[in-house]
This record gives sequence, C-alpha cells and structure tokens, in this order.
Amino acid sequence: MKSTPSNAGLYIHIPFCQKKCPYCAFYSEPIERHEPEKLVDAIFMELERCAITEPVKTIYIGGGSPTCLPGYLLIEIIVSLMSQYKDVAEFTIECNPAQADEKTLKQLRTLGVNRLSIGAQSFDTKELKTLGRIHSPRQIVEAVRIAKKAGFENIGLDLIFGIPGSSLKTWRHSLKSAAALEVQHISAYSLTIERTTPFEHAVRQGKLGMIDGAVERQMCKTARVFLRKAGFGQYEISNFAKGGFECRHNLRYWKNLPVVGVGPAAAGWYKGKRTTNVADIEKYIKRIESGRSSQSEAYIPSSEQTASESAVLGLRMTEGVDMLEYEKQTGFSLIRLFEDAIKQHGFNGLLECTPDNYCRLTEKGLSYADTVAQDFVL
Ligand code: SF4
Repeated sequence: MKSTPSNAGLYIHIPFCQKKCPYCAFYSEPIERHEPEKLVDAIFMELERCAITEPVKTIYIGGGSPTCLPGYLLIEIIVSLMSQYKDVAEFTIECNPAQADEKTLKQLRTLGVNRLSIGAQSFDTKELKTLGRIHSPRQIVEAVRIAKKAGFENIGLDLIFGIPGSSLKTWRHSLKSAAALEVQHISAYSLTIERTTPFEHAVRQGKLGMIDGAVERQMCKTARVFLRKAGFGQYEISNFAKGGFECRHNLRYWKNLPVVGVGPAAAGWYKGKRTTNVADIEKYIKRIESGRSSQSEAYIPSSEQTASESAVLGLRMTEGVDMLEYEKQTGFSLIRLFEDAIKQHGFNGLLECTPDNYCRLTEKGLSYADTVAQDFVL
C-alpha cells in the first residue's frame, strides 16, 4: 500500500553568477546581461501557479549564486516566501564567499533564513584559481565571520577534492581550515568533469591533468576519517554534520520526498511528476508571461521506476533505506525487488541488512557506492 507524503520542500534556482567557473554544469549566466527584477517577477508567478497545498517544511535558494542578486531583491523574495509558508523549519540560501555582505545577511537572518551554505571549495589559492573561483581563502574565513556576526548558527561549507594539481597535503589543509571555522556542516564532493564544460574540453585536449583515481579514493577516505574525528557525523556519501545539523532539505532528495522546483532549469518532484524547467532565462520569462508551461521536461515515472529511484537515493545515506518506510512509500518490498543485488553485495561485504530493517552500505561499500547503485537501477 503506497502512502502519500503530506508536506513539501521548495527549491528556487537563481541562475546568475558573477563569473562562470569552468568546471560547473549548473545553469547560470552573468547577471549583467539580464534584468533580475523580471526574473524574480516570473519566479513569483510560477510559484503562484504551482499552488502548493501541503505545508512547506524546507526552502532552499540555490543557483548560480543567489547572493549575486541585489540585496533588496533577495529580501523581497524572502519576505514573500515567509508570508506564504508558515511551517518552514529550515530555510537555506547559498552564498558565494566573495558576496557575503554583512547588512544583507543580517536582514536575511532576521527575516527567517536560518541556514547558510557557503561555496568555499578549497582553502588553497592555486586550486581556487584552477577552479576559476572569484574568491580567496581569506574571503571564506571572512564570509563565515560575517555570517556568524549576522546571527547564523547553521553554516555549511562546500569543499571539492580531486582538483587538478591538488594533493593529499592540500586536501588535508582545506579540511583542517574548514573544521577550524567551527561550522556545523561540511560537504566534500569529488570533482566531476561534466560534459560540455571548459574543463571537459581542456581534459580532452590534454591541457588539464586529472588526479589519479587511487589518490582520489584516498582523499575521499581522508575526508571521512578527518571529519569524523573533528566531530562531524557522516550522514550521506558526501555530507557531514554536527549532531542535529543535517540538511533537512537535501534529506528530502535522498528520501525521495516531494520538492517543488521553481526558476530556470529547476528540477522538481511533486504530485508524482518529475519536472525540469527550461534552462534559458529569456525563454523561461516569456513562457511564464504568456501563460505557457515553464517545463521543458515532465513525466510520471512508473511505480517500479520510483521504487528504483528511492532505493538508489536512499542508499546514499549512511543510515541506509528504512525498509518498512520504503514499502509504505513505494508499495514494494526492497528485499524482494532487489533480491539479487542485495545478496550479491551482501556477499562481497558492500551492503548489509540490519535486524532493525535498514539496508545500508557498509564502511567498505561507501567507497563503491556508484557500483552498488547501478544494480538498483531497474
Ligand atoms: S559560482 Fe557556483 S554556480 Fe556559479 S559558475 Fe561557479 S560553481 Fe557554478
């Protein structure tokens, strides 16, 4: 028997950046080529159309760099959201370290934003240059100081490992520097060479040398060991938090719970439908203004597809898949649907099913998460 979730999350994509980083595949454009006011109006119109009926528990404004927006526009968005959704428990905004403005952050905090996700990426000047970032290590430290002064008590830092030219030594330095700032959340992602990015082009032309796979695995392990020792619990393959500071919005994705996606290129999973908005600011605004759908893709996955997605996403969490909850949510028994995969990976020590009905990756399995996940795709 399937159960329908009775609340929702909301993601808003602000597709502006001061400068495009060459490794990034997220949809964003330089802000000076557009009229941000027009985009914000369109986002409000799209939100109205979505007519979310469930209580919205989490809001996440990402991008792009939302902090690229003029302060007054960001504030307008927050005021409007806070007046519409009264049940928000976690409200996150992504912040570029070079754009941490004290006055704006203070206003955002006062208005109800209670979590800040800072795109630090590295504490090594050379690596930041390789990544094409507009900030320095010093500005990360400064951004955290400003955020704390503005009243934020839930701050996350994003880090990237496997950057060309990096080493275990520079990676340890980044981890140490991040932990020393006494933030509540650290994400450690390995650099992915995304299709159609300048990085992909440079790798193909031999102009950018990638880090050796074994070193990258070592970096991943170093992050796990170091962050756990520093008091951060690992709750997802790439995410670590001090107790009680796990990102509730991102947990919604891994638990396959509904999230409404609004803004150009935003993805959503709502009322049994997966949607992606058109990744073009001008087209998005035109579509919204003329009453047409902002979605470039929309489909209703079969119940088997949804069950497969829930398993793949759920196995990313260190607690694993709650098999009783899974059955309620999808209508399928995880053990019966994926009998072969569970047996095989249980046998080779990558997966375990616990007496309290969880199916999860083992410590060894965390290093082979992608390999295991492939066998849960239907
Ligand atoms: S600032 Fe973030 S979203 Fe913008 S281009 Fe760089 S990585 Fe991508």
